[in-house]
Amino acid sequence: MRIVLLGPPGAGKGTQAVRLAQRLAIPQLSTGDLLRAAAAAGTEIGRKAKEIMQRGDLVPDELMVATVVERISRPDASNGFILDGFPRTIAQAVALDDFLATEALELDCVLELKVDEEVLADRILNRAREAKANGHAIRGDDNQEALKVRMDLYRRQTEPLTEYYRSKGVLKSVDGLRPINIVAASLLEAIDA
Ligand code: ADP
Repeated sequence: MRIVLLGPPGAGKGTQAVRLAQRLAIPQLSTGDLLRAAAAAGTEIGRKAKEIMQRGDLVPDELMVATVVERISRPDASNGFILDGFPRTIAQAVALDDFLATEALELDCVLELKVDEEVLADRILNRAREAKANGHAIRGDDNQEALKVRMDLYRRQTEPLTEYYRSKGVLKSVDGLRPINIVAASLLEAIDA
């Protein structure tokens, strides 16, 4: 199964991607997690991405495409993968399709988590408050300013991907406002359908 999870910041992509990956026994690839790990480790990509991420901006397409292609070419992804946070632009989506086509592969489905914008900021700022209260690290981009940039970019660059995938007939949308378990069940149903 080759799956892409789409949805705005705070939609719960990460939570659902981890569950789906376990259930389907395929790796979950979160580009956000990957970049944060690279930034923490101080690798070249991490150094380039760190400030961009803190502002809430998008890391350049070429860098993201190279990172993802390298990752999904590894043996553990030969039976499939769940992409969370990629693609985020039409150019990334086209590059992904082109790469898969060279391997005679394609995406099986693109799952969209639909969520009202009003709840997103609350969810994210709550996540930051809870992390702080529990003594965990707070993401450098979980604050009002970066969030505004992230939401604007989502609307302008990422939301058009739903049309892109709908026109290819692979898009499936699920209501992401319901409890975690119900959303998880709906996603599995959508994949089976
Ligand atoms: P979110 O909760 O906002 O969806 P992520 O953890 O997926 O956050 O991503 C955090 C940040 O990492 C993004 O705001 C962006 O700076 C960078 N990033 C992650 N994936 C991509 C991508 N595919 N293209 C460009 N930048 C990305």
